[in-house]
Amino acid sequence: MALPLPSTLTPTKMAAYTDCPLQFRFSAVEKLPQMPSVAMVKGSFVHLVLEKFYSNNEFSDEPSTLLRECMPLAKPEIIENSEFLSLKLNESEVEDFFRGSEVLLQNYLCMEDPAKVKAIGVELQLENDFEGIPLRGIIDRLDEDQDGEIVIIDYKTGKAPPSAYVESRLNGVKFYGLLLELNLGRLPKRISLLYLGDKVTVDSSVTNQSLNAFKAKVKAIWKAIERACDTEDFRPVTSRRCNWCSYQEFCPAFGGDPEKARLALLG
Ligand code: SF4
Repeated sequence: MALPLPSTLTPTKMAAYTDCPLQFRFSAVEKLPQMPSVAMVKGSFVHLVLEKFYSNNEFSDEPSTLLRECMPLAKPEIIENSEFLSLKLNESEVEDFFRGSEVLLQNYLCMEDPAKVKAIGVELQLENDFEGIPLRGIIDRLDEDQDGEIVIIDYKTGKAPPSAYVESRLNGVKFYGLLLELNLGRLPKRISLLYLGDKVTVDSSVTNQSLNAFKAKVKAIWKAIERACDTEDFRPVTSRRCNWCSYQEFCPAFGGDPEKARLALLG
């Protein structure tokens, strides 16, 4: 019996399939829950604070409001969030969580001057059909620069990858470029990845040539996903990621049985 195709293809799903098809099957095809990590939830909180900051011009005109007003505004939301609750942090761990988030936000203020930013969209959800492939992505921030050109800003709450891995991290960026071309009919002038963990900015541009190569890659990956769903053949690919994979006990590479995952995780 064939497995159902995922309803959308996102940058996260594309990376998941490329990294480990079996993990992709668990998360994107069977939609089995994953255990969130502190780093993941901290990333969500930092994104939420920045979203509030740039959604309101009064905040972003004055950089100090990021920590003074937006962070307290976002705290109740994250504290009630199911992923935050599932971390089961004790009092001192909660303090560490918010102290660490504040450091990331302070780092952010060292990287950009909010007074010079003209945000024209925040947490922008884009969807479109690309040759029968349902693409979906959320752009952290869309700016207009002084020349009226579009710039995509993507916040990363970890550290910048070593230079040898930078190219592979740019797939998400090209994905946004493709979505913008499909939705607005134009390419962004620049895409900036802001690594708040170590205050490093990686700038990239999407040319027609690089976009064409990326389109071919999207089609090839979607075809491979269709084939894998059809044959139910999703192979495990081990790597450092296995250390924090929520499905390790059901992975044959670790002696587990994938068929037991659904019952164990969904009951
Ligand atoms: S444990 Fe490793 S190989 Fe197995 S599903 Fe997870 S990421 Fe893939």
